[in-house]
Amino acid sequence: MKELTQIALDTAQSKGASYADIRIIKLDTENIGVRNGRIAAMDHDESYGFGVRVLANGAWGFASSTRVNTSEISRISALAVEIAQASARLKKEDVRMTNEPVYKDKWQTPYLVDPFKVPMNEKLELLFKVDSILRKNRKIAVAISSMGFRKERQWLATSEGSFIEQLLLRSGAGYSATAVDKGESQIRSYPTSFGGQYMSLGYELINNLKLAENAARTRDEAVMLLTAKPCPSGKMDLILGGAQLGLQIHESVGHPTELDRVFGAEESFAGRSFLTPEKYTGHFKYGSPIVNLVGDGTVPGGLATIGYDDDAVKAQRWHIVESGIFKGYQTNREFAGKVGDKYSRACCRADGFNRIPMVRNNNISLMPGDWELDDLIADTKNGVYMETTRSWSIDQMRLNFQFGCEIGWVIKNGKKAYMVKNPTYQGITPEFWSSCDAICNENHWVLWGVPNCGKGEPQQTAEMSHGTSPTRFRNVTLGVK
Ligand SMILES: [Zn+2]
Repeated sequence: MKELTQIALDTAQSKGASYADIRIIKLDTENIGVRNGRIAAMDHDESYGFGVRVLANGAWGFASSTRVNTSEISRISALAVEIAQASARLKKEDVRMTNEPVYKDKWQTPYLVDPFKVPMNEKLELLFKVDSILRKNRKIAVAISSMGFRKERQWLATSEGSFIEQLLLRSGAGYSATAVDKGESQIRSYPTSFGGQYMSLGYELINNLKLAENAARTRDEAVMLLTAKPCPSGKMDLILGGAQLGLQIHESVGHPTELDRVFGAEESFAGRSFLTPEKYTGHFKYGSPIVNLVGDGTVPGGLATIGYDDDAVKAQRWHIVESGIFKGYQTNREFAGKVGDKYSRACCRADGFNRIPMVRNNNISLMPGDWELDDLIADTKNGVYMETTRSWSIDQMRLNFQFGCEIGWVIKNGKKAYMVKNPTYQGITPEFWSSCDAICNENHWVLWGVPNCGKGEPQQTAEMSHGTSPTRFRNVTLGVK
């Protein structure tokens, strides 16, 4: 591999590139799905290719190919330089990358069981078992269960001398049951929506998820929701549990702190951010003093947990919000310098060999507090506990949002009183995080995977995780206005 990568770097530099990198990537994916007693998906895909990224005349050029051989690497590297020289004619200013250490290293996701070596029969058997439990009630119209695995081998070489080999592995599984009666439908998912829980782990994750053990409860909740009372509306306390708080972090902390978006580089496709650079003073109030939101490319099991990003920068942990105060953006080498940061936060990732890397959400987690969940409920007089994302919308500046969850429970005088359907809540980002007054402890903390974050044109999908424990927000607007 080293010889192949050297061809790219030598060619690009001889054609006039001031910086070049090449990523060679081999990707294996497997997706298995069962729907209403039938196999709905059983795909195994492999891809292999490389992408060359260069800076020439102060502008980026990028080209890629699936033919990984010496002549093709030379051709594509020269092409990337031509593209950079052409786009340099339209540039507003030169791209300036932060200076970073050079690494020669190998890194891999720690895992126990290679999911690609687990027999297909064993996987299908588990999904069919779940499926049959989910459909043991005639009101369940649709039962969907699935598993997905992804193994990526990467070789990254830069003209600065870094040569990094990585093996990234992730596993995931989950299911949903949709109950239908009298023209109404209600869904429950397990362990969370969007196909379930995903982590950078091997097949041991699937065994730990207790999929079959939770199927009957999931089914019963979907059916019970059909006749549940509607969620009350008005201002009251909100406790967010499960992965819903993860998505809240994703949309109202993750995306607004992507520094390329702040500068409008993603404006046409993904919108901008209210978190403009003049708020990067170390004093801007993002939330209440108990809110600590940490970006962390090193947290075990995180979907964005890597050794090094696609800028060849080492993964790291830092505070995005510390004691309620905004402390740092998510950055790459191109944008970090624009707000005066000396180094990148290693958030530069591409979706495969044929896409150019850009700033992507890292793993971002709300640090646990010291509450037990029972005590938190006992301490709540008038509120709703909600979990599992059903719908969401947030404006282009990432300020005004509304989320809908699959299920809620009204809390009256410190007790879970009754289940409610179609719960929703809304808020304004810094106001909402400022209303946070209690966070459960590390015993309740789970790292939730988001396997489907879309950004860019053409669209790229990235994966990341958000760690949360159930958290209370005071005086939130619930229900539809
Ligand atoms: Zn996203």
